[in-house]
Amino acid sequence: MSLELPAQFAARIRRDEPLSRHTSWHVGGPAEVFFTPRDREDLIAFLRVLPSDVPLLWLGLGSNLLVRDGGVRGVVISTREALTGLERRSQHEVYAEAGVPCAKLARQCARWNLGPAEFFTGIPGTVGGALAMNAGAFGGETWKQVQAVEMLDRHGHVHTRQAAEFRTGYRSVTAPERDEWFLAVTLHFEGDSSEAATKALLEKRRETQPIGEWSCGSVFTNPPGDHAARLIEATGLKGLRVGGAVVSGKHANFILNEGQASARDIEALVARVQDEVERAQGLRLVPEFRVVGEAA
Ligand SMILES: Cc1cc2nc3c(=O)[nH]c(=O)nc-3n(C[C@H](O)[C@H](O)[C@H](O)COP(=O)(O)OP(=O)(O)OC[C@H]3O[C@@H](n4cnc5c(N)ncnc54)[C@H](O)[C@@H]3O)c2cc1C
Repeated sequence: MSLELPAQFAARIRRDEPLSRHTSWHVGGPAEVFFTPRDREDLIAFLRVLPSDVPLLWLGLGSNLLVRDGGVRGVVISTREALTGLERRSQHEVYAEAGVPCAKLARQCARWNLGPAEFFTGIPGTVGGALAMNAGAFGGETWKQVQAVEMLDRHGHVHTRQAAEFRTGYRSVTAPERDEWFLAVTLHFEGDSSEAATKALLEKRRETQPIGEWSCGSVFTNPPGDHAARLIEATGLKGLRVGGAVVSGKHANFILNEGQASARDIEALVARVQDEVERAQGLRLVPEFRVVGEAA
């Protein structure tokens, strides 16, 4: 049965939207309903009328998400063109809505000479995704800069929460309440940053990672005291392939879609890498990306 939604939202809703168009791995079946709100008020109004049993998935730039080939039931909320506010609120504070691309945040902070924010330049996601994943690079980490967040619950109510209410660790964030999502953040910066430093980090990344190819960045988190890429390379798995998915020859912790991969190929290759590394090195790597949706 198709999900009935008020006509006022019709122009911003797409049905059966292929999520392969919205993920950096370029795989994934359709979303039953794909909603791009006009702005924050529109999103709040939408959630107020959405039946509370409809499954909800928030999507930023899809750069850390494996959507299975059978797609996603319920509603996908796309923040990328919706929640785009970015402003300096005081000498040390920046307010950013969830859909702001991290690269834009880095560039703007460089103009304001606020940092450390250079690390955001290499994270090809949104601020909301970076908050959800505690994204980080080159020693910087999203939650080290968070002062407070605005959360939206599924009934359309906004809650302001302080950073101390969240438990955060390496690529992990536990919110005090379930079923709340990031609407906006106030970031606190004590230092400075520059466009030159931002460019240098991007350059460094281009030398070591297959940037521009279809991936989700690092597939596995680094185990304590070691690097997932080193373990995969030491096991001889560079170039290992399942269907159209392959372990990158440039950086062993990247799995690339060479054009024809399915989510199933990628999941199978991830499991193969985990099995082979465990057999050879005695530890099981833990995926960093999130998996959603149903198998085809
Ligand atoms: C080439 C490449 C390089 C990368 N390098 C790095 C790196 O150096 N460091 C790093 O940490 N990551 C890296 N990543 C991974 C990825 O960019 C980050 O995890 C990023 O923060 C994900 O943001 P996104 O907007 O794409 O999130 P999505 O992939 O869209 O979503 C990821 C998760 O966050 C949830 N989510 C999204 N928005 C919200 C919201 N507003 N509220 C609540 N939950 C939300 C989603 O539901 C999903 O569970 C890389 C990825 C690629 C493709």
